[in-house]
Amino acid sequence: MSDIPFLSHEHEMLRDQLRRFVADEVQPYADAWEADGQTPRETLHRMGELGFLGVRYPEQFGGADMNALGSAVLAEELGRSTFGGFAITVLVHTDMASPHLARYATPDQLARFMPSVVSGEKITAVAVTEPDAGSDVASIRTRAEKRGNGWVLNGSKMFITNGVHADLYFVAAKTDPDAKGSRGVTIFIVEKGSDGFAVAQKLDKMGWHSSDTAELVFEDCFVPPENVLGEVNQGFYAVMSNFQNERIVLGAQAMGEAAKAIEITLDYVRERKAFGGTLWDKQAIRQRLAQRAAEVEAGRALVYQAAWLDAQGRDCVKEVSMVKAYCGELVNRVMYDCQQFHGGAGYMVGTAIERMVRDARIQAVGGGATEVMLEEVAKRL
Ligand SMILES: Cc1cc2nc3c(=O)[nH]c(=O)nc-3n(C[C@H](O)[C@H](O)[C@H](O)COP(=O)(O)OP(=O)(O)OC[C@H]3O[C@@H](n4cnc5c(N)ncnc54)[C@H](O)[C@@H]3O)c2cc1C
Repeated sequence: MSDIPFLSHEHEMLRDQLRRFVADEVQPYADAWEADGQTPRETLHRMGELGFLGVRYPEQFGGADMNALGSAVLAEELGRSTFGGFAITVLVHTDMASPHLARYATPDQLARFMPSVVSGEKITAVAVTEPDAGSDVASIRTRAEKRGNGWVLNGSKMFITNGVHADLYFVAAKTDPDAKGSRGVTIFIVEKGSDGFAVAQKLDKMGWHSSDTAELVFEDCFVPPENVLGEVNQGFYAVMSNFQNERIVLGAQAMGEAAKAIEITLDYVRERKAFGGTLWDKQAIRQRLAQRAAEVEAGRALVYQAAWLDAQGRDCVKEVSMVKAYCGELVNRVMYDCQQFHGGAGYMVGTAIERMVRDARIQAVGGGATEVMLEEVAKRL
């Protein structure tokens, strides 16, 4: 039976399957993916075959038709893999980029793209951030101008996950330059290989090494009318709305990482000898780990509560923003302590904890920085 009251038998079956997959098909190989700077396409295909890429999508496309609780289970288990780059590669595809398609596509667009998204044949990316616009989404400058029936895109996008290797990009651009702030943004489906669309550079990062990240450039990139996603000039609201799911998922991933780091550290301190006993014999160490374990349980509870509220269709912007702020900071505090209790060994490249410390840092920034999330909470207090 689940330790989370909102989860069903199906959720726990999904969790078991994911845990087996991660143990058998991720952990033995992912050091090589880190060195390679990407998660291999075969692994993503395999996840498609096993149904992991369609957790949220209708059965007609090969999905499992679950709600945000299913996404939280997926994200928590991938977070527990200890390879944040692998986890984010998958979660951007399943829960941050492809939801744009699932929620706003026409029946024709769904039929064209959804089966290959669920099978892992086509990998997706979402391109909102620009060199001069991150937290402040409304100030993006990439332009789309009408040409004939279609549109022409000009501009650049920054820090785009799956940016090098994706097949489908959901790109936010200004379609009405005179509209104030949030109005006048539209989402376009840009297919890999489109004229005028290029990867400007593959970006090197502090962590998440098995995730590829890119700067993208659009120079007179023609987008045909059938690749406009959702209503023209309503794209800002689509981005904001999808952020809710994204932030639940990032919180769940962070709590999976944090819980796993504590487990790894417990194993270490129970074995490591110092001052005539083990590190676990030191009350200061046991109590710090106990404190962090309690905080992680609180974070998990908040994640699943927010996912449940979302699944009920309830307004949960406050709770989701709390999830993102709380879990993004907490995972970093946990990693700091876990690395501390590994001593010098935890500073060595090649240890799980060293990688997890690096991977965690972005959790307080990406998908909504802590300060921005706390403003969302404050507005609703
Ligand atoms: C590895 C990685 C992957 C990413 N993947 C994607 C992706 O796939 N698609 C995509 O579109 N974007 C992606 N991003 C972008 C990410 O979402 C942004 O980096 C994030 O939203 C912050 O924007 P910024 O970097 O422009 O920082 P800025 O907006 O310049 O903010 C800098 C810092 O200032 C502080 N701050 C900002 N606003 C406020 C405020 N109002 N009050 C107080 N403090 C504030 C915060 O501490 C923030 O970290 C990714 C980023 C990284 C690093």
